[in-house]
Amino acid sequence: MKKLLALIGLVVLLLAGILVVRTLRVPAPAPAALAGSSPITVDEAAAAGRLAGAVRFATVSFGSGAPIDTAAFLGLHQYLATTFPLTRSTLVRETVAGLSLLYTWHGIDTTLAPVVLMGHLDVVPVPKPNLPEWTHQPFSGDVADGFVWGRGTLDDKTTVLSIFEAIEGLLAKGFRPARTVYLTFGHDEEVGGLYGARAIVALLVSRGVKPALVLDEGGFMTKGLLPGLNGRTAIIGIAEKGYLSLKLRAVAQGGHSSMPTGRTAVGALSRAVAALEADPFPSSLGGPTRGTLEAMAPYAPFLQRIVMANLWLTAPLVERSMSRLPLGAALLHTTTSPTMLTAGVKDNVLPPEATAVVNFRIISGETVASVTDRVRRVINDSQVVVEPLDSAHVDPSPVSDLNSSAYRLISETIRGMAPGEQLPVLPYLVMGGTDAKFWGAHTDRAFRFLAVPLGDGDLARVHGVNERIAVSGYATSVSFFARLLAGIDRL
Ligand SMILES: [Zn+2]
Repeated sequence: MKKLLALIGLVVLLLAGILVVRTLRVPAPAPAALAGSSPITVDEAAAAGRLAGAVRFATVSFGSGAPIDTAAFLGLHQYLATTFPLTRSTLVRETVAGLSLLYTWHGIDTTLAPVVLMGHLDVVPVPKPNLPEWTHQPFSGDVADGFVWGRGTLDDKTTVLSIFEAIEGLLAKGFRPARTVYLTFGHDEEVGGLYGARAIVALLVSRGVKPALVLDEGGFMTKGLLPGLNGRTAIIGIAEKGYLSLKLRAVAQGGHSSMPTGRTAVGALSRAVAALEADPFPSSLGGPTRGTLEAMAPYAPFLQRIVMANLWLTAPLVERSMSRLPLGAALLHTTTSPTMLTAGVKDNVLPPEATAVVNFRIISGETVASVTDRVRRVINDSQVVVEPLDSAHVDPSPVSDLNSSAYRLISETIRGMAPGEQLPVLPYLVMGGTDAKFWGAHTDRAFRFLAVPLGDGDLARVHGVNERIAVSGYATSVSFFARLLAGIDRL
């Protein structure tokens, strides 16, 4: 007995030793950056006014296949050309797929791999019932109380306009980029980018473009997002989840509701949806999310650092605690969200068909095909047909290279904007979709980041009510792009 106790004690001691040693071996946080000067001066008020002008074009994507207000998009194209005259006269502009824009800024050495900066011109609609909640009308482009208000101020006209502001400022100073820079602005990102960004990427690839860096929207800078990190944190998207909507169609004999059959369409469909919710996709702490935790470790308090430095042992614990929150759970597995239901036209008629749409966001390691297979297996009912809703499905993107000069340049540029601060810059998995996914097959240097410091509640304003951006936050974003462009010779 004594021997056994001694053995257990020894094992515990050994384990504690391993945990502590691994924790002590976590690298020190990146040193605080030195103050780097911005290559341009940003006139905050004037820049905010120009962003506001762009917000006034209601470039809404209503849904895939829905009519598009082409006049709004063409108006925005014209607005960009007249508002940024140096950019218009120096860069080569092409229209792709009718409403998307591709600008080429020829670099000094055209043999060097180019840079691609992406953004999108379209915005999501504003549901009518929400209109009274908007302090300023969604397309007013009001500048008030230190903010520019309106749909698109966070997603994603800020990216587009920041890039133009930065380039116009650099051109005014006589700057010419070391390598060629492409600006690509899709017109249908909010409905999958199947016509805009996909066509632009195909065009550039057909021209032999192999980018040294692709940067799109996705990551951001914020406070208090990650447990254990109290200060500001910047997160850069290094991969994005896949996307799939499946239509479940239950069929049965129709007829009079006074004499129902044993298996109605509504009953079969309900069982199918309930079965999917009762059997969620398996969770695992792998891929980009494991990378986020490992990169957080140097900045975390000692106890949390022990956990993060020893995921070989603590992963199940971390998984359990992350799974309690919707955000944490979404980072660990393919999510299942029933979003639409239809059946029946009258209360006393048995419908011959009932349908549901279930949306899945697919984690790295799974695919559209594997998710569809599993859904069929879980439902396991020949009465329910499972088919893709439309063609807007995509596998998860590959994970981009954290050791590339592209990732380094983005992180250094972010840190350079927070002199004296030990700002954690962390990789993460983007849960929504971005146009950058179309680069996935062609480069491992596609990243996602927007340098706007987000405040409390700002994330909910993206696609939500009272979308707005602080005038000073917008200036930060402009300055970020100017610094990034000034540094591309280091790629
Ligand atoms: Zn967006």
